[in-house]
Amino acid sequence: MSTQTQSITTNAPPLEFKEIVSYDPATGEEIGRIPQTSVAEINRAIQTARTVQPAWAKLSYRERGRVILKARQIVLDEIDEIAQLISRETGKPTAEAISMEVVPTLDLMHYFATRTEKLLRPQKIDIGQYGLMGRSSRLIYKPLGVVGIISPWNFPWATPLDEVVMALMGGNAVAVKPSELTPVIALKIADVFQRAGLPNGLLNIFIGEGSTGAALIDAPVDKIMFTGSVATGKRVAEAAAKHLTPVVLELGGKDPMIVLEDANLDNAARGAVWGAFANAGQACASVERCYVHESIAPDFIKRVVAETKALKQNVGTREDTDVGAMSSERQLSIVDEHVQDAIARGATVATGGRRHPGLEGSFYEPTVLTGVDHNMEIMREETFGPTLPIMTFKTDEEALKLANESIYGLTASVWTRDIARGRRLAEQIDAGTVMVNEVVYTHALAQTPWGGVKQSGFGRTHGRLGLLELVSTRHIHVNRISFMPDLWWFRYSPLANRFFHGLAKHFTTGSLLSSSRLLPEMLRRLFEKRS
Ligand code: NAD
Repeated sequence: MSTQTQSITTNAPPLEFKEIVSYDPATGEEIGRIPQTSVAEINRAIQTARTVQPAWAKLSYRERGRVILKARQIVLDEIDEIAQLISRETGKPTAEAISMEVVPTLDLMHYFATRTEKLLRPQKIDIGQYGLMGRSSRLIYKPLGVVGIISPWNFPWATPLDEVVMALMGGNAVAVKPSELTPVIALKIADVFQRAGLPNGLLNIFIGEGSTGAALIDAPVDKIMFTGSVATGKRVAEAAAKHLTPVVLELGGKDPMIVLEDANLDNAARGAVWGAFANAGQACASVERCYVHESIAPDFIKRVVAETKALKQNVGTREDTDVGAMSSERQLSIVDEHVQDAIARGATVATGGRRHPGLEGSFYEPTVLTGVDHNMEIMREETFGPTLPIMTFKTDEEALKLANESIYGLTASVWTRDIARGRRLAEQIDAGTVMVNEVVYTHALAQTPWGGVKQSGFGRTHGRLGLLELVSTRHIHVNRISFMPDLWWFRYSPLANRFFHGLAKHFTTGSLLSSSRLLPEMLRRLFEKRS
């Protein structure tokens, strides 16, 4: 396995030598200092990955799964150390490092280590009447080669690790470019797999900023799994197009929550608060807009504000911290800009609305805003912070219109006691995942697909659909009647033309009865070809 720390072996620093320094955003303390991977090192590592990948691909799913399960056991044994590291490098509470990152990953590792064989079993395709002509078709799934994973800082453990596991189970080598804000966690992922016995050179971690990600794309690799902002996603797609490298884009969101008048108010309010403030609101699926039926709005807002005021904000390494620091000052200033824009345009701050006055690091108070509208940045642009802007609606149609009035479409939620009504509305919302009486958490389900519509991206990760992104699907077609020429082969004749017209009229209906009318002409065509 090549990681940045292992691949630097020369005494003299490379010409482009640069260090990435990682800080704890809650305390400002330095966590690590890691040399940036050079372009030459990236290219060398990808070449090596190409040479070691075929042997890995030859292993059975069970053998590959054994390495994943060993890695899983190491994660389980070191869960507290890993949670502390995640918490220190991102600012999130250790409780969330465990519940939102490590637990879902352990589940996903078990799922794909034990189920990939079944999920990628060759699949027979129903080819209709061609099947009666001795033909059959199957899909088989082969490794892609080397998969490049470019990931953000908000779930620095789960996002790259989930994709590493799926890519490895698919028989690929992997190269990860983690966020420059969270390099130490990425090196911990490499360390876990190294100790689990993954062959050297199969998993590579490239440390650096955007330019390092660009160099990975340009290496080139066989697929790019990108998770990040819309703006970077567009640049990644453009760079990948140069090599015609396929990409999956998991981008930002502005996820709406609709609370209908028959919702369980208490649970909806708690769901809104967790959905908006977990991970300090820095989840792509965070509740970023809340629409509440006007008849219950005062009661709902009262409960939301009370629940928000009760949250404990502090350094993430304390066990009783609910909301930690934001991951960077840059992100904190975006949040404050959105809040100030909303206030300037007439919004009311029900609670929060400022940097935490009593804490030194990058802490922003959980903020509830009312009186918001779609002219405000906070209802249009991804805020990616601890904000919960609440707006009212009168009818289901209006709620749907507001929810769909966005360039994004990652997740959404509808809250109601009437499940049929909830489903009906859910199906009309433009988002990759719509939940009824739930928020945020389906990224934790290894079995279900994750991904967006509109500018939230394309392609999927997780579930069978996500696994299929990490293999090359091939079609194998067999003709068992190999002693007879096909009736559409040369030579053409007036009889052939009549027969082809017959195919157009009868065979393409898919009806056996209709096709049977072609039999006399079929036989004549057969004898014509044999004569
Ligand atoms: P970002 O787009 O700034 O960076 C993401 C990654 O891309 C980083 O590793 C970065 O170094 C790299 N990068 C930057 N420029 C690059 C380039 N030109 N070529 C290749 N790589 C490049 O995003 P971020 O600020 O790290 O993360 C926050 C964003 O991620 C939010 O928009 C959030 O919604 C999104 N996100 C989406 C999902 C999802 O599943 N849809 C999950 C988590 C985060």
